[in-house]
Amino acid sequence: MGPEGQQEQPAERSLAPAFAAALGAGANVEAGREARHGVVAFKFGGTSLLGAQRMLHAAALVREATLRAHSASDAVPGAVVVVVSAMKGVTDRLLAIARRLEAGCRTDARRDADHLLQLHLDVLADLQLSPPHHHRVACDLSLLGKDLLHDASPETQPSAAGRAALQDRLASYGERFSARLFAAALQKIGVPAVPVSSSEFVLTCATFRDARPAMAETRRLGREILLPLFADGLVPVVTGFIGATPDGRVTTLGRNSSDFSGALVAHVVDAGELVIWTDVDGIYTANPRESAEAELLHELSYEEAHALAAAGAKVLHANVLPLAAQTEMVVWVRNTFNPRFRGTRIGPACSFQSTVSPAVPPPSGCQNFHLRGEA
Ligand code: ADP
Ligand code: ASP
Ligand code: MG
Repeated sequence: MGPEGQQEQPAERSLAPAFAAALGAGANVEAGREARHGVVAFKFGGTSLLGAQRMLHAAALVREATLRAHSASDAVPGAVVVVVSAMKGVTDRLLAIARRLEAGCRTDARRDADHLLQLHLDVLADLQLSPPHHHRVACDLSLLGKDLLHDASPETQPSAAGRAALQDRLASYGERFSARLFAAALQKIGVPAVPVSSSEFVLTCATFRDARPAMAETRRLGREILLPLFADGLVPVVTGFIGATPDGRVTTLGRNSSDFSGALVAHVVDAGELVIWTDVDGIYTANPRESAEAELLHELSYEEAHALAAAGAKVLHANVLPLAAQTEMVVWVRNTFNPRFRGTRIGPACSFQSTVSPAVPPPSGCQNFHLRGEA
């Protein structure tokens, strides 16, 4: 029996109204599925991937998780799937290229595109792969760079409708470069890995810059692509942020949406846990970079985390929560640069044994966070 046959039949479960609204119309998500706790999804943000040293450090966290997943005693063998953002600053630079094109500055746009290709080739050089491995990845990056240069040099000024589509196509290159580099970093440290473009399976509407995924179709296609990779012992390194319309035009799910992509991919493979690896120790009561009074929150319900994200806490995209709540997937927000720290756990009341986060209880007095005004 194939992996699909191992699934239990989903039971419908009703959602809190705020969550149903956040998932959008037509979000035909199957709910109540028994998550396969052996599968873990890791999402790395742009700061965690900025340069070869950080990529190798993040890759080592994945290697650790693959070892734990494989030694877990679940009936279903463990597996790890990774979702990556663009390196920090790259999406902004790609969008600046789109603006240059709109302003008619084609030479500048092409030069900036060339610089971005070079930036990623420099990171590749810093990864210090073996010569044949380096050569393979360099060819792959250069091919992608050629497409970028082509998109950055349109023959004619795009129409208003074409501009939004071009913007998304340009913006998508950051994640596509970083997925290739991160897969190479994993391979370098002995983890078999393969880059996967989410535009192959995240099917969306054609609302460029804020596209909504069609959940059932995304799940079906995603399983067709990802489950055979697990079966071959590979770690899929999936691009965050991007999808495609049914007729193959690249879309993006909105700024900062790679967290949402992480939840989508985790949902597709029935991961029991999603770890959002970022650059702070977890979710705080306020942005810790702006408020000295900000306090770390150790445990949150989906509703509490959603309220914080919807109120603008950039650390976690609000769309993660409704999706995670539907399957009771546990979401961790953890610091790539302080990986021994437990981070913030978002999920149902804790009876769940994590395969990826240290079993360190939160300090006393820091139990569940209650929103102001709640009991
Ligand atoms: P990534 O690139 O990993 O996705 P982001 O920059 O999107 O990271 O989000 C992490 C940042 O979110 C932190 O560096 C922090 O400055 C900011 N932030 C804003 N509000 C909060 C909050 N309530 N708790 C934690 N971090 C927050
Ligand atoms: N790279 C995209 C952005 O900068 C998505 C993300 O990082 O989450 O918005
Ligand atoms: Mg982010």
